[in-house]
Amino acid sequence: STARKPLIAGNWKMNLNHLEAIAHTQKLAFALGDKDFDRADVAVLPPFTDLRSVQTLVDGDKLRILYGAQDLSQHDGGAYTGEISGAMLAKLGCTFATIGHSERRQYHHEDDDVVNVKVQAAYRHSLTPILCVGEGLPVRQAGGQVAYSVAQLEGALRKVTAEQVASIVLAYEPVWAIGTGEVATPDDAQEVCGALRERLAELYDADVAAGVRILYGGSVKSDNIAGIMAQPDVDGALVGGASLDAGEFVKICRLGE
Ligand code: PEP
Repeated sequence: STARKPLIAGNWKMNLNHLEAIAHTQKLAFALGDKDFDRADVAVLPPFTDLRSVQTLVDGDKLRILYGAQDLSQHDGGAYTGEISGAMLAKLGCTFATIGHSERRQYHHEDDDVVNVKVQAAYRHSLTPILCVGEGLPVRQAGGQVAYSVAQLEGALRKVTAEQVASIVLAYEPVWAIGTGEVATPDDAQEVCGALRERLAELYDADVAAGVRILYGGSVKSDNIAGIMAQPDVDGALVGGASLDAGEFVKICRLGE
């Protein structure tokens, strides 16, 4: 993973109101040194209601922290009550839009077709998708993790061009490891991340595949990040629970070094 700069992204899920978000982002900014940003790109993925506050802090203090949304609408505007468009997120300075998180797939019934049109919506507004894939426990127990995750990748990338996919971020998040304290072994992470990269090379080309960052997500903490990062096809982490503790998240951004 030499040419690929690591990315550590904190998924706050439905936590932290906008005042708490400001305090948390200030803590992060205070604790992160210049060297940390040389080591890894650092991003936060707050709830929609926090994005304006985070933008104001990042812009005002010229913080090197990147930010993005946890989801976006497949539509660009109009009569879609409760939805947030890619245009709105781009206007708020978001770099990323998380798409296909397992909690969206599970609780909001987002299938590969919805994920696919959301990926296309992100690209229409120059947002970088953080595309999440990963198997549940029954699939893992049956040994089907590679086929399952690769099929989700293929479903998400229909009609997506090589030029577009060059900037994508993938996140392999085995559902059984999310929020459970059950972390995949570094070899488990490598197996699927490596397979995703191989499939990208087949769908597009080897250069594109070699440039795409693939994150692992699932109970990442400061004491397991180093082993995960040591894998050749793992380029960072998507961090849920541990991203809510500023001290712990900063240690993860230091890659456990
Ligand atoms: C996530 O929700 O993306 C995640 C990886 O959560 P956790 O780190 O809490 O397992």
